Amino acid sequence: MQILTHPNPVLGDRAGEVDPSSDADLRPLVRKMAEAMYENQGVGLAAPQLGIQKRVIVFDIDEELGAICNPVIIEQSEETAVDDEGCLSVPGINVPVERAVSVVCEGLNIDGEPIVLQAADFLARVIQHEIDHLDGVIILDRLTTEQRKAAIREYNDAAASE
Ligand SMILES: [Zn+2]
Repeated sequence: MQILTHPNPVLGDRAGEVDPSSDADLRPLVRKMAEAMYENQGVGLAAPQLGIQKRVIVFDIDEELGAICNPVIIEQSEETAVDDEGCLSVPGINVPVERAVSVVCEGLNIDGEPIVLQAADFLARVIQHEIDHLDGVIILDRLTTEQRKAAIREYNDAAASE
């Protein structure tokens, strides 16, 4: 499945909540998302990246697939860190993004059961990145104006040399 890339306007939309107990499309969606993520060597993917405006994320940082519906960050550390981040929707570049070092994320699993995920470091970064997608926010939106200009220039160069 095709992953939408910047500047596709769909990436800027807010995705809607899902109801796993009544949404028969959810399971196949999670499967498609996982396939797209693995095919592209990603560590996370949000449904809007496939053009599906549902609040669903998948991630895999250590060979275990996770999926959360309606994820919400209910706690985050005051401590933040800046690290380079890439995105399958902004291919070819990495940009420095500031994120909370640890988060507690609440949501539903694919069966509609409540789950709580405590995440730190890289996993916390991935979760925050994917939830951003559900709110129509991509890594370019996390940059200062100057950084954003430079990043878009680099992105366009990367696309042109493909
Ligand atoms: Zn992304």
